[in-house]
Amino acid sequence: TAKEQGGTQVCFYTDEINQVISRKVLLESGLRTAIERNEMDIFYQPQVLTNENRIVGVEALLRWKHPKLGMISPVEFIPLAEETKLIGPIGEWTIDRACRQFAHWLSQGAEVEQLSLNISAVQFLQRGFPTTLWSILKKSGLSPDRIVLEITESVVQDTSLCLPIMKELKEMGFQLSLDDFGTGYSSLQYLKELPLDIMKIDKSFIQSVPFSDKDKAIVETIINMASLLDLKVVAEGVETVEQLRFLQERHATAYQGYWYSPPVPEDKISENLLIENSPTHLNAPS
Ligand code: C2E
Ligand code: MG
Ligand code: MG
Ligand code: MG
Repeated sequence: TAKEQGGTQVCFYTDEINQVISRKVLLESGLRTAIERNEMDIFYQPQVLTNENRIVGVEALLRWKHPKLGMISPVEFIPLAEETKLIGPIGEWTIDRACRQFAHWLSQGAEVEQLSLNISAVQFLQRGFPTTLWSILKKSGLSPDRIVLEITESVVQDTSLCLPIMKELKEMGFQLSLDDFGTGYSSLQYLKELPLDIMKIDKSFIQSVPFSDKDKAIVETIINMASLLDLKVVAEGVETVEQLRFLQERHATAYQGYWYSPPVPEDKISENLLIENSPTHLNAPS
């Protein structure tokens, strides 16, 4: 070790830190400066109309490259950002950047209709969220009906808390999507009471289609229920053509997943939106 080699104090100090400071503390302090140090980036994943093979939207997915620890999954750092209240600034940065980028694509002639943004429960329930969102949106010049807000069941657990906010956002013109449907503490009550536009079927159900009869039944039931409730339904985590066929036969509205494209950096998706999604491509036999 550095100590045995009579290393400098700096090395000795680093060794001790490594022992004492947990990954969590390291991530927490890193998170504070991640934006100003340019470590955050947004990837985009196409959302594709199931029966037309046309990109209808893109979902913005946050990426963080920690200088020492490498790529950190949002599954790990979003909860940390929520605990430390950093979700406010990080969430706003993401919305701002994604909206500007999306407005830019539209100005260049991209035919994509909507941008999906993931909104954490803490951010959604923060005082003044609709107003903050509105003012960020206005700077981009986008119309609110272009924006889909993806929220999870943890948001909607307390209906008395989230319903007024959802109504306010709907009045402003935003679309609301219930993400990861079927995982959390799902209650059909939500679907009755909340002003939702879209349901997203969690990828855990899609993953075992078409092998598991139970998962097939669940996916089919969610699609039918969504259609009866006049909601659009988006399937996430579509990795195989068999899964896509299954969704096509049952008329799911749209899907996303590695089969069509993983989340990709800005420049890559803009190629897709501006060239591949052009009418020429759509008319080509597939
Ligand atoms: P999510 O919103 O449910 O996003 C879907 C996740 O599935 C993404 O993981 C995506 O990369 C991944 N995925 C897409 N296609 C496939 C596929 O075919 N197979 C598999 N196995 N996975 C696929 P990611 O990007 O790691 O994000 C994880 C979660 O982190 C998201 O789940 C979302 O809840 C959260 N998240 C990501 N970006 C943001 C953000 O900007 N703000 C907030 N609040 N949360 C975010
Ligand atoms: Mg999502
Ligand atoms: Mg999801
Ligand atoms: Mg998910």
